[in-house]
Amino acid sequence: MKAFFRNPLTVIGCLLFGGLVGLALAAPWLPLADPNAADLRNRLAPPGSENHLLGTDTLGRDILSRLVWGTRVSLAVAAAATLVAAVIGSLIGLLAGFFRRWIDTLLMRGVDMVLAFPYLILALAIVAVLGPGLLNALIAIAIVNIPFFARTVRGTTVSIARMPFVEAARLGAQPRRRILFAEVLPNVLPVIIIAMSTTLGWMILETAGLSFLGLGAQPPQADLGSMLADGRRVMLVHPHVGLLPGVAILILVIGINLIGDGLRDWLDPRLEGGAQSAPGAATAVTAKTAAAGEPEPEEAAPVLEVKDLRVEFGEGRKPVVAVDGVGFSLRPGECLGLVGESGSGKSVTAMSLARLVASPPGRITRGAISIDGVDTLRASNEAIRRLRGAAIAYVFQNPFDSLHPLIPVGRQIDHTLATHTTLNSGERHKRILDLLDRVALPDPKATARALPHQLSGGQCQRVAIAMALANNPKILVADEPTTALDVTVQKRVLDLLARIREEHGLALLFISHDLGVVRAVADRIMVLRWGRVMEEGDATKLIRSPKNPYTRKLLESSPRLGKGPKQDLGLSRPEIDPV
Ligand code: ADP
Ligand code: MG
Repeated sequence: MKAFFRNPLTVIGCLLFGGLVGLALAAPWLPLADPNAADLRNRLAPPGSENHLLGTDTLGRDILSRLVWGTRVSLAVAAAATLVAAVIGSLIGLLAGFFRRWIDTLLMRGVDMVLAFPYLILALAIVAVLGPGLLNALIAIAIVNIPFFARTVRGTTVSIARMPFVEAARLGAQPRRRILFAEVLPNVLPVIIIAMSTTLGWMILETAGLSFLGLGAQPPQADLGSMLADGRRVMLVHPHVGLLPGVAILILVIGINLIGDGLRDWLDPRLEGGAQSAPGAATAVTAKTAAAGEPEPEEAAPVLEVKDLRVEFGEGRKPVVAVDGVGFSLRPGECLGLVGESGSGKSVTAMSLARLVASPPGRITRGAISIDGVDTLRASNEAIRRLRGAAIAYVFQNPFDSLHPLIPVGRQIDHTLATHTTLNSGERHKRILDLLDRVALPDPKATARALPHQLSGGQCQRVAIAMALANNPKILVADEPTTALDVTVQKRVLDLLARIREEHGLALLFISHDLGVVRAVADRIMVLRWGRVMEEGDATKLIRSPKNPYTRKLLESSPRLGKGPKQDLGLSRPEIDPV
């Protein structure tokens, strides 16, 4: 509830909508005049008259009373129509998306037929056939809204029905009906609820529209649309008669939309605040950061220098401090291993280097970072963009997530090359084949044409490494590059990284939760916990005599192969247990 009401706009929406709904529900008990009692001597009384707080309409009926009762009717019709459309539409969408094949064709082509007619014209045609009246208006707007639900729900169902947990339920020999309603439906439900919340506002407008045209509520019954039509006739002389129901419609629809937005943010916290909080081009930096300082002109000056870095998430009094006081430097050809349990701030540290932490919610509040002589915390967005994928490149944990699923991998490498170099397409093509060859992919030509799903995890990770190497980076950040791979592939990727580091004199920042993996590649190791540096030092020394108790624990928890004769899996350092 707290999360739901955190957004002030949602609170306003609830107050507006809740206020009107409360009034409408309480109508029978409120001391209101009879909404249909005409008093012809008292026609068109202005607001504030005696006995008529909001005045009277063309027949002398009390506007306040008609507003409250009219809102009740409009709301009831709109809510009922939404519910009918949602239930029928969602059912069509679920069945079509889950069973596919001929059921899908049949149902969705039917929906397409409804969609082929202009929306309001179809509603008018339905009412024309059924005859005017509120119930028929309800049926009409429910029917025209069914396709919206069917299409939205079908799309979501198709993607959810392919997920592994649905496969698992199938393997568990559950009946298909149960899978559909127990496994798929709960995951589609948020989509349905959000669609309902946006549709309700529409439905109020549509009911009012039909009533305004005289096809919905029939006299003397009041609903907001028929009151509007009544007011239209005297709009120039007595504007309040039409204005008041108009304002009621406005408040209802705005209230519903604000609640709908709040509901969406609440059901999917990743969307928080909508477009306003979409991450900017680079992580926000607050004023307290220091200048990175000029790089020393000596031979082996560090290509990467981080000092006293602090990164926070979230707003308000209690931000989450993800990284606090982390500092290190990296020289060409050097490998620093960053270790720590999950959530210790490794990835946030790595992403901060190229200001890739999403902002909001993240921001860098202290420190200095220098990449190849560029002070990244003070550089312009454009300067940072030129660094990314050129001076500093990244390889992430899951290669399938970091490659575009529908573009051949060769073309994806080409994009990075085209962004940062002036090579023509022939030269780029040659370079791509050369890169794929360098990461030891057997058939570079065939691989370049392949889509990610046609390659194995290890091959994909090699492609990701090739892409990272495309512009001869000085720094390669490998964030858990082997975690998603099986052990033998892991080892080959580690060997590859070690070889590339030697060949290219690359500075490697290697991140893993597993000390065993890190010590196979790193010269120096830094242990992180709760965003702070626990211990840092030469890899061999740190492993042999860890000073910090946390490092010792990490060492103990690192899996080793059994105590039998040492198996040489050909790691670059044979004295190290393979992981
Ligand atoms: P790891 O060491 O496993 O890579 P991360 O660097 O990804 O850990 O995360 C470190 C901490 O940063 C997390 O424990 C979390 O508290 C915080 N954090 C990361 N991303 C976000 C985010 N988008 N919003 C809020 N907090 C975050
Ligand atoms: Mg991580």
